[in-house]
Amino acid sequence: MFKERWNQLKEYVYDSSISLKDRSFVVFSFVLIGELIFGAVPSGIIMKEPWSSTLYTMAGALFFGAYVVYSIRKKKIASAKIVISVILIFIFLPLMFFTNGGVYSGVPVSLLLGSLYINMIMEGKGQIIMNILYSIAMITCWILGYYNPDMITSYTRKGAFIDSLLGLLIVNAVIFILLSFHTKLYTKENERASEKTKELEEMNKAQNRFFSSMSHEIRTPINTVLGLNEIILRQEDATDEIRKDARNIQGAGKMLLALINDILDVSKIEAGKMDIVPVNYDVASLLSEIVNMIWLKAEEKGLKFNVDIDPNVPESLFGDEVRIKQILINLLNNAVKYTHEGSVSLYMECEYPDKDNVILKINVADTGMGIKAEALPHLFDTFKRVDEEKNRYIEGTGLGLSIVKQLVELMDGEITVNSVYSQGSTFTVALKQGISSDKRIGDLNISNAGGVNRGDKFEHMFKAPDARILIVDDNEMNLNVEEKLLDGTQMKVDLALSGQDALNLTLHNRYDVVFMDHLMPQMDGIECFEQIRNQKGGLNQNIPIIVLTANAGGENIELYNNTGFDGYLVKPVSGRQLEDMLIAHLPKEKVILNTSGQDNGVQLSTASRYAKKKPVVIATSTMSDLPASIIKELQIDIIPYTVITNEGVFYDNIDIDSEELVRYMSDKSKMVDSEPPTE
Ligand code: ADP
Repeated sequence: MFKERWNQLKEYVYDSSISLKDRSFVVFSFVLIGELIFGAVPSGIIMKEPWSSTLYTMAGALFFGAYVVYSIRKKKIASAKIVISVILIFIFLPLMFFTNGGVYSGVPVSLLLGSLYINMIMEGKGQIIMNILYSIAMITCWILGYYNPDMITSYTRKGAFIDSLLGLLIVNAVIFILLSFHTKLYTKENERASEKTKELEEMNKAQNRFFSSMSHEIRTPINTVLGLNEIILRQEDATDEIRKDARNIQGAGKMLLALINDILDVSKIEAGKMDIVPVNYDVASLLSEIVNMIWLKAEEKGLKFNVDIDPNVPESLFGDEVRIKQILINLLNNAVKYTHEGSVSLYMECEYPDKDNVILKINVADTGMGIKAEALPHLFDTFKRVDEEKNRYIEGTGLGLSIVKQLVELMDGEITVNSVYSQGSTFTVALKQGISSDKRIGDLNISNAGGVNRGDKFEHMFKAPDARILIVDDNEMNLNVEEKLLDGTQMKVDLALSGQDALNLTLHNRYDVVFMDHLMPQMDGIECFEQIRNQKGGLNQNIPIIVLTANAGGENIELYNNTGFDGYLVKPVSGRQLEDMLIAHLPKEKVILNTSGQDNGVQLSTASRYAKKKPVVIATSTMSDLPASIIKELQIDIIPYTVITNEGVFYDNIDIDSEELVRYMSDKSKMVDSEPPTE
């Protein structure tokens, strides 16, 4: 019974879910009770106190113990702490002072124990109040004792010495027990915390492993699906119905892929593993890649795509190109996705805070459905889609903007959004980038790279009848897809299902390029790469080897770069990506480029907005006073001085920011008559 209770008490004291103050209350209370019970008899004998006084002390201690046990059982520790502290301060300690020799005894040292008790069990305001009460009680005792010496039962000189020594020894013992307990508790909590950290790290690692292997496992079959689908899309005799289905498969496949990438990014950001890797990058090629991607999507939806790049943007900047691309693609994809008619616009310009850096300001504007004011605060929340009713039929997960925001923050940048419901939205991103070239980008002409493959009739970008390549992959379907995608380039394509098969082939045949999968059973792509490079009697020690893998992610690129691969392609891979890589690595003399239709792309001038800038000063409130003849003569674009919101149409009496103004003036589609709308 006693053992059981003792174990329960121990469990309680080491239970980390209970507050430290509550546990200290239990421990300290029992130490005090023990001290009272076991100290009462010896000190009564030594100090020659009457037995009745010793018995009172023991009874008090027992009552104290019973009350503590009761408070634990009934979960009334908070009130018990107050009751006991008040009894201690106003009854027990003063009684001790007056009956045990006042200041000439062990009482002052013992009183310190009371102070320690209060401070170890109370917290917050309660602790402050109890300390004040304690001080008042002690001051009162001292003053009363000083002016009324008769109130104090005093000791002889010998008694005072003995009592003060006993007091010191008891306090010392109590402090020893308490501090030992606290040290033990502290060590235990520390161990528990480091165990928890380890567990969390393990969980994080396992989660990352899970996501990256899930990404790998999903990419491998998608490679087959999208690859074979591309082959269907290339077929000239495919009916419109088949073509439509194939496009839908393509859309769904890409969507699935985007989802995997987003989930990977979210898990990486949450694990604090998303690193910003700054490099020197060419602004024009970054823009060209993005513009080409979005242009097509906007065109498919019948939207106008405006691109305006300030000619003063440096030609080359220093920053994380990959993440900036990701941010832009996300914002532009959303702009296209949530706009049914009108236009999507991309603006880029720079501010120059100092001679080495620029603040790159990117605006993505659309004339789409807009965002309700009450939804704006939740726009960047993970998995949060706003206005779900309206968006029900628009695919999305609510991850994109949250990733964008976190990436921008990782780059110490800022993202803001300005939106009028049912009118459109403008996302503005400001990022500090290093300047790595004194040259300016100028009037950039981006050509629509649809070129060869945009029409209904598919054509390869090159032919290379004298070239021979090897593709190594343990997945037979992937091998077939890649072979079929290159069918028509007239290259000789050999296939190997394992690293060992590949080595047998490289020993006897000379290749121009090898595409190598990474994760394969027995010999993986990296080992196979090393073996080809060092193959005795091999014919391919120095040829370009491109890793073609379902292992996505920045850390893998680093691994492949360090290994020495000449290029990196991630599955699912398109015919175009394979061909681009081959054009870059096949011997030039073996490649016959297909130039037909390469210039078919539309040229997009990107500095029109800046060319059109007009030197005017406009105050919206006075605008309507300008005579129509002057407006016409000076070609002043007029901003309607009303604000249209979902609440209705209002007169605009706020200043319009100059950037908005410039943007507005350059957008002819918004030109209106100066006639104000009637309310
Ligand atoms: P989703 O995958 O749903 O597009 P995002 O995180 O990219 O996820 O966007 C979150 C929500 O913000 C979207 O569901 C949409 O309601 C709203 N949103 C984002 N961009 C726009 C935009 N350009 N116009 C209107 N609404 C937008």
